[in-house]
Amino acid sequence: MIGTGYVGLVSGACFSDFGHEVVCVDKDARKIELLESGVMPIYEPGLAELVASNVRAGRLSFTTDLTAGVKDADAVFIAVGTPSRRGDGHADLSYVFAAAEEIGRALTKPSVIVTKSTVPVGTGDEVERILRDVAPDSGAKVVSNPEFLREGAAIADFKRPDRVVVGSEDEEATRVMREIYRPLSLNQSAPILFTGRRTAELIKYAANAFLAVKITFINEIADLCEQVGADVQEVARGIGSDNRIGPKFLHAGPGYGGSCFPKDTLALMKTAADNETPLRIVEATVQVNESRKRAMGRKVIKAMGGDARDKTVAVLGLTFKPNTDDMRDAPSLSIIAALQDAGANVRAYDPEGTEQAKTMLNGVEFCPNPYVAAEGADALVIVTEWDEFRALDLGRVAKILKQPVLIDLRNIYPRSEAERAGLRLTSVGKRSSAAAR
Ligand code: NAD
Repeated sequence: MIGTGYVGLVSGACFSDFGHEVVCVDKDARKIELLESGVMPIYEPGLAELVASNVRAGRLSFTTDLTAGVKDADAVFIAVGTPSRRGDGHADLSYVFAAAEEIGRALTKPSVIVTKSTVPVGTGDEVERILRDVAPDSGAKVVSNPEFLREGAAIADFKRPDRVVVGSEDEEATRVMREIYRPLSLNQSAPILFTGRRTAELIKYAANAFLAVKITFINEIADLCEQVGADVQEVARGIGSDNRIGPKFLHAGPGYGGSCFPKDTLALMKTAADNETPLRIVEATVQVNESRKRAMGRKVIKAMGGDARDKTVAVLGLTFKPNTDDMRDAPSLSIIAALQDAGANVRAYDPEGTEQAKTMLNGVEFCPNPYVAAEGADALVIVTEWDEFRALDLGRVAKILKQPVLIDLRNIYPRSEAERAGLRLTSVGKRSSAAAR
């Protein structure tokens, strides 16, 4: 497994748990050192235990030495990052290509080279060309196997996926992939979809773009609900019970973020433009989502009476979603920037994201718990719906806030409950408490 990040580490640990022998490689020596001493470099529920038990069983190991890792491997997975290329939004494939070159030099047998990273259509062809250049006689085959796991539920997603997608142009490579994923079909019937390589590459982007559209759709409906006095949670329930629509990804909120949707929608738009087939729905989604994040800052300011200057705002939840420490493209970053631009002081608390957040946010006071953050603040904003924010002592919150203003961007709290505690509540896509006179 080349690349031991959120995807590579979880995939490597799960494959070893299936009974395979796995070597996780990363060029980040600090990560490998941590892993070798039993410390997880990321926060993902259940991961530490899974890694420890497979290391103990002798099936999982870690190294910075790619050559040693690749030697004798039946399959080599590329799980390195594919961030947005600065300036143009194309996927930056430099890590994938560099890994392919290194792998090519290290091959000792006709291994199957599998791109697990999310890569634009045609990248498999490029990886194949690199391998042909570097190792013309290796007989290596290139397969696409995009990953659909969600951070925060990554192990369950990997072990009980809705489907596995394998894009292969070669029978022997297909056989190896079937063998690797065989434990899944033994446990239960996770379908493995075998497709052409380009199709597999596109499936990943189409899936993420569709989900981004779905979230953005309900977010726009939420805005309309606020204007017309409807309730977006009830609308979501009403449409989501239709099997053709489904209830998931219909939670209105501050806009999507994270390490995948923002960059993958941009990369898909670039592929579409390069092929003169613009995807207008995706383009609109990206625009709407961008402006939404800033609009959330304005929503907070409005709830405070329209002026943020020298006010203190307490922010609960910084990561892009609960149960992860991942701060990449989190909506909290834009919301906090908007508040700071308007002159507010920001205090923040996050259960797991503080360490990453400190490297991305300036001028924020990080607090050890929600109540320290709320003490004397002019407003409390829930940005990420961590479980521990679902059972706040609202009475206590109302007492310690300077102004009893709660902005719940995840619709955790019903208005009646907040008002009973003495708070004025602003939700998303629902009627808010009357403003103070
Ligand atoms: P990450 O940044 O957490 O991890 C990537 C790792 O690769 C880093 O540790 C880096 O040091 C290492 N690396 C880079 N070049 C290397 C090389 N040549 N040799 C060895 N190690 C190298 O990234 P991630 O979030 O795990 O994402 C990886 C890929 O999976 C991306 O393409 C992403 O789009 C895709 N993906 C991510 C998720 C997710 O939830 N994070 C889900 C599905 C798919």
